Amino acid sequence: MFDDLFGTLGAEIGKIFDNPVVQTGLKAIGLYIVFMWLATAFWAYRDMSQRTTNPIAPYLAAGLIVLFTPILFIFGVILYRILRPGMTVAEANERALAEEAMLVEIESQPHCASCGRQVHSDWIICPTCRNRLRRVCPNCSRLVELDWSLCAWCGKDFERPELLREVAVPPPAGRPVAEPQIAAAVETAGMPVQSAPSRAAAGER
Ligand SMILES: [Zn+2]
Ligand SMILES: [Zn+2]
Repeated sequence: MFDDLFGTLGAEIGKIFDNPVVQTGLKAIGLYIVFMWLATAFWAYRDMSQRTTNPIAPYLAAGLIVLFTPILFIFGVILYRILRPGMTVAEANERALAEEAMLVEIESQPHCASCGRQVHSDWIICPTCRNRLRRVCPNCSRLVELDWSLCAWCGKDFERPELLREVAVPPPAGRPVAEPQIAAAVETAGMPVQSAPSRAAAGER
């Protein structure tokens, strides 16, 4: 009796699978799965070419998907997504460029020639090693560089004979200078240590 039942059931199922519409549907599903499998392999190839400059790695990625067969390739995708490099080559380049730009910006900050400390552009003396960084023009009270022969702001000539005594002599670089010496140098040069108004004037630049 059970044999009869199973026999009829088997025959019915066989009839369903023999149906040309069902046959076509099954073939279509099979073709679709194979198409998805190959398309995924191609996706893995392209994805890997964006993430590495290695010429072989994209083929290995596609091969991984192919190896997982049309039925199990979804697990190949999961494995590939775990193993692939986290950043694309473009993203890595962008990050490297940003880091480089940051370094250049840090490098472009003025540094003390004597001790290498980062200094503010308005400072006249390095607070770490007391190296002279800039002078104050005795005429216009603006900041002038140590190697300027005249004031770029007001045109006062520092090298005219009668003014020679007014030219500040910078202390030797690399050697810490005691406070009174700097005060004396400032005094002989006739240049007051920078005051608040002159700093404001320098800020106008
Ligand atoms: Zn210094
Ligand atoms: Zn000046």
